[in-house]
Amino acid sequence: MKQLIIIADMEGASGIFNENSSWIWNGSDDWREHGRECITSDALAVVNAAIDFGVDDILLYDGHFAGNPEFNIILEKLPPIVRVFDVSNRCFDWRRIRGQAVTNPFGIITFGQHARFGEDNAYFAHTIQSPPIKSLFWNGIHIAEIGSAVLSFHDVPYLANIGCAASMREALELSDKILTIPVKEMAKGWEPSPQETYSIIYDGVTKALHNANNTTGIFVGDELHRFSMELCDGCFFETSTNITWKGTIENTKATWDAPSIEIGLELFNYVRRLIKSR
Ligand SMILES: [Zn+2]
Repeated sequence: MKQLIIIADMEGASGIFNENSSWIWNGSDDWREHGRECITSDALAVVNAAIDFGVDDILLYDGHFAGNPEFNIILEKLPPIVRVFDVSNRCFDWRRIRGQAVTNPFGIITFGQHARFGEDNAYFAHTIQSPPIKSLFWNGIHIAEIGSAVLSFHDVPYLANIGCAASMREALELSDKILTIPVKEMAKGWEPSPQETYSIIYDGVTKALHNANNTTGIFVGDELHRFSMELCDGCFFETSTNITWKGTIENTKATWDAPSIEIGLELFNYVRRLIKSR
């Protein structure tokens, strides 16, 4: 069996730019009428390329506006081969998500992806939620949504990243063997429609699947995993709470060590709960 893992966000979808930013607001009329069509077009390009290649099982995680049960991708438009991960309200429950995939999926592809907070020439750049989060580091690499996803599947070949051209920097820092498939590029003023990017995505994914043997998962080692998170101006950590893990919480910076990626990413959720704004 060839199982493919596909991880979607929405800020990096085709056809959504600064002028029509309301299309990414999950729940709004513009999102319903226009935005969902954009990310669904990208999803279909990925899925159809995978089916034509011979993938026979596709598991989708749609993580934009996690916490809200309503999917961004119009699931009824996808072929029945696509299944969604069973997580409450689409929450970032990475261990639960990883546990629902087979031990050795064929590969993982990220799409609809945006750049990290602070990246230049980027559409809707942020790190999970900015503000309050300015950066999240794992062993020296600034990770946001792409990193959280692919590190949770670090033992699975990372095949391709699709989205804003500026999102490619995070993806390539995690694995320089991936195929990058930009669908918009602010630096060049390149803003194609989803109809135009459909074949770009389809062709890119086809190539990435054929190249799967030359890609790898992400080497994480089995030593210490050091995480740190910094906050934007105006935000701070509640430091009066006793923490029950090994870590340091300062005014605007927290660091914590974990014996595995999985545990480190889970602790992130606990550290995040200590964030306050002035
Ligand atoms: Zn998003």
